Amino acid sequence: MSRVHNFNAGPAALPLPVLELAQQELCDYRGTGMSIMEHSHRGKAYDEVHAAAIALTRELLGFGDSHEVLLLQGGASLQFAMLPMNFLPAGASADYVLTGGWSEKAFEEAKRVGTARVAATTCEDGRYRRIPKQSELALDPKAAYVHITTNNTLFGTQWHYVPETGELPLVADMSSDFLWKPIDVSRYALIYAGAQKNVGPSGLAVVIVKKSWLDKARTDIPTILRYATHAKNASLYNTPNTWGIYIMRNVLEHVKREGGLPAVERANRKKADTLYAAIDAAPDFFRCPVERDSRSTMNVGFRLPTEELEAAFVKQATERGMIGLKGHRSTGGIRASIYNAVPLASVEALVAFMGEFHKAHG
Ligand SMILES: *Cc1c(COP(=O)(O)O)cnc(C)c1O
Repeated sequence: MSRVHNFNAGPAALPLPVLELAQQELCDYRGTGMSIMEHSHRGKAYDEVHAAAIALTRELLGFGDSHEVLLLQGGASLQFAMLPMNFLPAGASADYVLTGGWSEKAFEEAKRVGTARVAATTCEDGRYRRIPKQSELALDPKAAYVHITTNNTLFGTQWHYVPETGELPLVADMSSDFLWKPIDVSRYALIYAGAQKNVGPSGLAVVIVKKSWLDKARTDIPTILRYATHAKNASLYNTPNTWGIYIMRNVLEHVKREGGLPAVERANRKKADTLYAAIDAAPDFFRCPVERDSRSTMNVGFRLPTEELEAAFVKQATERGMIGLKGHRSTGGIRASIYNAVPLASVEALVAFMGEFHKAHG
């Protein structure tokens, strides 16, 4: 078997032990004579998996009964719509902070449902290079909620503080940095994350919602789109993505075994520091377009002197088993996504190649 160094932005790397366990259990899940995919979602075997995925999310993030954990379908993009459908009633307005392509999409979707306004944007000539400061947030004191995107997958920026929104409910799209470090869940009314960056396969979304806020949600929308429906049914209102949740459960168990979120954070910081140090060490050749205190620990973007060199860099890296380094079509350049499951060894391989490439072309 030969595994590549996977820098894909999403779907992205999964921990090898998680894949190996899935392989081992694929045809006969723990002596039950069938795959977990073939089990009833109402049966005992699957029920344990489902309950463990929810319990481990709570345990790793360290929160109690104040918030519900929901395991939904439709990825993060459905959350762009479900959030305003549930929490943006007629006559109200929601605040969106624009820091990248995904926050723009969330904002556009909210405007289809109701009234939404921009509380801050850091877009300058079509690009986002930073996270706004607290003082730049022009919040509507009556906003139904304030929406942020904690990590901007395309542009490589990340919030390194939790904005103060007073009484206003704070909502965060954490798709690309969910579980990258411990966080204080009590600061948020709702957190959502597509699973395919840090916790599992695509199509699955994790939602953490404050129960007291849930009570205020609209009830006049389709049953399947109400958070309350899924909360009441422990995310078993309809057939859930059982395979996705099985993999997620295994990822969370792996994280727990490895020392939990404090250990994950240490590993992530080490990887990001290593890569940014290599970029900063050769400012005549590598350049990070993002402001220093907004740099993402998950998606590291950088430029080379010319687009031709960038294309050659991606090509040669691919030949050496480093894949997924081409920047998003909207930003160009190089992007290395170094999510939780990407090992330090992959970052070290990339840094070594950067040195070689610089020597050959600098
Ligand atoms: C990947 C991503 C999404 C979209 O996720 P889907 O599951 O494809 O809908 C949304 N927001 C952010 C921040 C992302 O990184």
